[in-house]
Amino acid sequence: MDQIGPYPEFSTVPLISGTLYLVSTPIGNMEDITLRAIRVLKDCDIVAAEDTRHTGVFLKRLGLVKKQVSIHKFNEAKRSSEIVSRLKQGEVIALVSDAGTPVISDPGQRIVEAVLKSDLRVESVPGPCAVIAALSISGLSADEFHFCGFLPVKSGKRASRLSYLLKLSGTLVLYESPYRILKLLNELLESVPNRKLVLARELTKKFEEIHRGTAEEILCLYANKKPKGEFVLLVGSVSESPSEKPSDDVD
Ligand code: SAM
Repeated sequence: MDQIGPYPEFSTVPLISGTLYLVSTPIGNMEDITLRAIRVLKDCDIVAAEDTRHTGVFLKRLGLVKKQVSIHKFNEAKRSSEIVSRLKQGEVIALVSDAGTPVISDPGQRIVEAVLKSDLRVESVPGPCAVIAALSISGLSADEFHFCGFLPVKSGKRASRLSYLLKLSGTLVLYESPYRILKLLNELLESVPNRKLVLARELTKKFEEIHRGTAEEILCLYANKKPKGEFVLLVGSVSESPSEKPSDDVD
């Protein structure tokens, strides 16, 4: 894998000591890393990463070798106190996930909470995020949208969550794995056959695909092929569906 760079530097302002920087990283296309993200990763004392091996490879492409600590859902609580005490000593910490924006269906929430509770500073280094990338090109209304992350896997909880979400006004944005995307499309076919859907696959990558249509139309595309890659599924608002009425409009 080629190393990228050198990069222009627009700022020489030093990072703020005792700050946790939440650094967004590419969701597929390495060109989407921001100059500020590179600078924070270069100048921080330590990188807190969801997967240190994955992030090690990524940092190497940026020409960086950094000390890392791992953070994942099983050690977040324990790591929080370590991160808080490092920040109290004035260290600068960059928190990254494997792809996209930390905390968004990724680890980091507990660490942010712990840092704020200790009256320490958290700063965003914004960048790629699959929700926003998919929503912005969907053609569906972005005036009101609900990011729903992944639906529960267990059937009872999943059905009740989906039925609750489908009654909300605004566009729904869901993450789903390739193993369950057809299940989700079939669930939508059953409950909201006329809603406008947008399926965004492999955003920013070489084989990016965007499909727009009803659940039935999109399912037809997968009649003879298995879904592969990463998916965001957007569901148009109930208020734009002629055959449905938003729940609060019901007399
Ligand atoms: N933190 C990430 C973000 O900011 O988007 C999301 C991490 S979550 C564990 C991974 C899910 O995000 C995938 O299963 C998929 O639903 C969505 N996703 C991430 N990258 C994507 C891409 N390039 N194209 C489509 N969906 C993507």
